Amino acid sequence: MNVRTRFAPSPTGYLHLGGARTALFSWLYARKHNGTFVLRIEDTDLERSTQKSVDAILEGMTWLGLEHDEGPFFQTQRFERYHAIINQLLAQDLAYYCNCSRERLDTIHQEQRSKKLKPRYDGHCRDRKVAPSSDYVIRFRNPETGAVFIDDMIKGRVIVQNSELDDLIIRRSNGTPTYNLSVVVDDMDMGITHVIRGDDHLNNTPRQMNIFRALGQEPPRYAHVPMILGPDRTRLSKRHGATSVMQYKEAGYLPEAMLNYLLRLGWAYGDQELFTRPEMIELFELTQVHKAPAAFDPAKLNWLNQQYLNNADPKRIAILLEQHFRQLDIDLSQGPDALAIVQAQQGRAHTLKELSEISSFWYQNVVQYDPKAASKHLRSTAYPILQVTRSKLADLKEWTTEAIHQVIDQVAQETGVKMGKVAQPLRVAIVGRAASPGIDVTLALLDKETCLRRIDNALEYIQPTKELNFGQINETYVF
Ligand code: GLU
Repeated sequence: MNVRTRFAPSPTGYLHLGGARTALFSWLYARKHNGTFVLRIEDTDLERSTQKSVDAILEGMTWLGLEHDEGPFFQTQRFERYHAIINQLLAQDLAYYCNCSRERLDTIHQEQRSKKLKPRYDGHCRDRKVAPSSDYVIRFRNPETGAVFIDDMIKGRVIVQNSELDDLIIRRSNGTPTYNLSVVVDDMDMGITHVIRGDDHLNNTPRQMNIFRALGQEPPRYAHVPMILGPDRTRLSKRHGATSVMQYKEAGYLPEAMLNYLLRLGWAYGDQELFTRPEMIELFELTQVHKAPAAFDPAKLNWLNQQYLNNADPKRIAILLEQHFRQLDIDLSQGPDALAIVQAQQGRAHTLKELSEISSFWYQNVVQYDPKAASKHLRSTAYPILQVTRSKLADLKEWTTEAIHQVIDQVAQETGVKMGKVAQPLRVAIVGRAASPGIDVTLALLDKETCLRRIDNALEYIQPTKELNFGQINETYVF
């Protein structure tokens, strides 16, 4: 079979995580079967659909690398086709005009509710042969008996009795076709073989299958993907944090990490965590997607992103990092090459944003001390050690990692303190915090004058109240 899948977002917002995961599953299924992935923009809600949202969705798909083979098709450009199908259904008496007033519908719904029944259309106009005069809608004549069997590729068999369904509106009184009609016409015309979508559409599926059959077509296969929950297991929403895919780009996540994360959300292959694209395509099975909703776990996403950051080409990461530095208003000409930073900071950040933040000290003129680090390491006990370190660093002819390393070794030996007691005050003086790559590397990436100036600032900050000798230092200076 020539597999054809589609992603059919409504352009009423950005590409959110749930949509992206549905798109990923549709894309993977098409790729796995050498099929075709169609992008369709369901923009019939003229009031809520915007071009900005279309662009945002396309941007998100492009960033994730979910390239479509056909489309984007726009439903607003296909109204003529929908009307032709509606007319065909009318001609075959598979649809009919209905002029029931809002008041009448409200009354019957009220009665149904009071009898604890589901509010539904009672078929009043079914056989009244209403003429298309003024205010009317067109309804689909849903079969009254029998049942619809949905052999859902994720949920399994779902059976819905036709007596549960009513005659749904396929054309509104303002002349526009409704969602259920246009989706069926599109899925039919676009030759969609597998409809993979969020399970919030499951209740539409039996109605759509009946329309397919009325049009003389076998419906496609369906796979309804469970929703994504927040960490508190309520439906994922803005109150859980970022839900737009592009917000994750801005926060410094890599698209391949995002894709890997979305794939693993509700699908597993043994205990394998990392999947390359070819592996995803090879190993993904729609039928193995979990039936229960999956909960979003930011810690897991961070872990995955860190893995991808570590394994990616440092040159690529450097280019991406530069963009994040720019957001911090960092002038890259004031410090080392971004590539050198990436190499030095390997494995130390979960996101590009974090990487830019923990690396900004290399470029900034003024070092801000983290209060905790300063109170622990920039104490009077550190003063003489920093002083000795400063003078030895000042004497260095060559400003290299090795030479700096030797100086720190020497200071530790000569003063009789542990290496950490030399390195930590120095680190806080240069970085502002108690964490950075190796102290030698950290210094070597800066120029000598900047390092000496920062040490002087730290010495000034400490201003010891009494002179201490090195013997006392090991006793009083506790890590
Ligand atoms: N346009 C619908 C939505 O964004 C999806 C319809 C479908 O996949 O059938 O929820």
